[in-house]
Amino acid sequence: MGKIAINIATGTIQTKDVIVGIDLGTTNSLVAIVRSDTRQPIALREIDGFSLVPSIVHFDAFGNTVVGNPARELLISQPERTIYSAKRLMGKSYKDVYDHKGFFAYKVYDDGTDALVKVQIGDRFYSPIELSSFILKELKTRAEHVLKMNVSKAVITVPAYFNDAQRQATRDAGRLAGLDVLRIVNEPTAAALAYGLGDKSRGEQTIAVYDLGGGTFDMSVLRLSDGIFEVISTNGDTYLGGDDMDNAIAAYWAGLTGMASAENISLRQELRVTAEKAKKHLSTHNEFNGVVNGVQVSLSREKFNELIQPIVDKTMLCCRAALKDAGMQTTEIDAVVMVGGSTRVPLVKDSVSRFFGKEVFDQLNPDEVVALGAAVQADILAGNNTDMLLLDVTPLSLGLETMGGLMDVLIPRNSKIPNKAGRQYTTQKDGQSGMRISVFQGERDLVKDNRKLAEFNLTGIPGMPAGLPKVEVTFLVDADGILKVSATELRSGVAQSIEVKPQYGLTDEEVEKMLMDSLTHAKDDIKIRALVEATTEARQMLDTTAKFLHKHREMLEDDEVATTTAFMNKLEKAIEMQDKDKIQQATESLNDVSRPFAERVMDAALKDAMRGKKIV
Ligand code: AMP
Repeated sequence: MGKIAINIATGTIQTKDVIVGIDLGTTNSLVAIVRSDTRQPIALREIDGFSLVPSIVHFDAFGNTVVGNPARELLISQPERTIYSAKRLMGKSYKDVYDHKGFFAYKVYDDGTDALVKVQIGDRFYSPIELSSFILKELKTRAEHVLKMNVSKAVITVPAYFNDAQRQATRDAGRLAGLDVLRIVNEPTAAALAYGLGDKSRGEQTIAVYDLGGGTFDMSVLRLSDGIFEVISTNGDTYLGGDDMDNAIAAYWAGLTGMASAENISLRQELRVTAEKAKKHLSTHNEFNGVVNGVQVSLSREKFNELIQPIVDKTMLCCRAALKDAGMQTTEIDAVVMVGGSTRVPLVKDSVSRFFGKEVFDQLNPDEVVALGAAVQADILAGNNTDMLLLDVTPLSLGLETMGGLMDVLIPRNSKIPNKAGRQYTTQKDGQSGMRISVFQGERDLVKDNRKLAEFNLTGIPGMPAGLPKVEVTFLVDADGILKVSATELRSGVAQSIEVKPQYGLTDEEVEKMLMDSLTHAKDDIKIRALVEATTEARQMLDTTAKFLHKHREMLEDDEVATTTAFMNKLEKAIEMQDKDKIQQATESLNDVSRPFAERVMDAALKDAMRGKKIV
């Protein structure tokens, strides 16, 4: 029987239609799928043969857009209308990007607040989410064109260091583009997956991912254990990459040929374009010869290596720092994966290989490897590949309802899955034979504000005094994101379990709303939780005292009973008034007046017991 995978974030059942993998990059983006015939991931190519779509959007005066290469051609002539590197703005405020505002040739709008940035084009404003959605829409259209079918589901990659807001922004961009984003995957994890490093048979491993692109460098150390990829450390430089190599070459030639002082933008541009050509040529040749503005330029591999040595050195320092943060030696790294176009440079490859003392994984196209991994992840989600691992985190906390309607969290939000957690509970009443297990999802302290996922009764608990049964409740979220809840009374072995049904899943909007609510209501929740806890304790106190009075009436004086009853009434009143401090005070007072009787009863019981012994 086939397994149905349910994403607990969206509640969707994954059917067999294609799920694409998308690398939404700073410089270039692309789509990949796993071919149903060969089971291999491939990047989708348009008739032009190119898989990469430059992550650039151009807006004309009417707000119409073009994306990719045609937009790139307008970078120089219409800088204020041509948006590149929108990914750098994802989930950022103007203050966050202030230090690098010179990097953007278009207008990043400063509203003087901590609010998320917008880009201003003419009199229109665009959020980075909208800008990214234009790129994703283009990728979706391309994929539909190549595959000749509707594409509506995707896995999208993000840098490992992206925070929640940036991940959410990426999800939102997908949704705006008409894509159901089934999962957000870390770029280094995707790269490792593309090389098959997620195969279950490989066991525990530590993987270093070296990602040198056009404008960014990321170094990540991942650990694969118990079926989960975990990011142990990340390091890098968000403004370091192949562009710096081009600039180094351009500056060198400018110095040699006297073009250094060139104010002419198009000449500078020509220098840079030729410099990039030289760099790429030198990845496979020893010598480059070209012409810039009618002047002969040349570059040897040796000179090139000398020019880029400082850039390579910087990346090696980041590698060292990432290892240090991970508390590891190079010898503890089992595999090194190369990602990003700039890792084609022989000096880069050799330096990384020498640093880690081993061969690197570089057989796949370094521009495509992240998208290929996203496709592998998509294929796993589609249920086609069971040898590989599923990786995700729980989007919202999972917990149980406890006394007073409080949420008791067993698996906090953002926990890795698969995951297992258990906790022991007990009964409230003597002889209680059943226990209701209500499972909730959400961040609020009171279950009424969260979403109920499931409910069942554990029945058949043998009669025992309150507090004696030990009911162990276990939550198990499996790799498909399906939650199984089981409850066992440990003394008797009575057990019950349930699999949480898909109709309880949440849409992303609901997840987002619940998170927002939990932030907005955090203060209220703490107050309410304190009140509920005080009330629960008070009720227990009242219950025990009432039982005590009933059972030991003959050992108490009339006025003692009267005083105790008066204090009990006072506590009842405080509960009615829902005043936490009053409830606590009244509980304490009741405790104070009833303690001496309780001690007296205990003493009497002890004496009885001793007397009993003597007789025997
Ligand atoms: P990415 O951001 O991963 O797409 O990487 C793009 C960077 O890789 C740009 O700086 C390119 O110039 C660089 N690149 C692409 N192909 C080569 C190559 N054959 N040799 C050296 N660098 C390359």
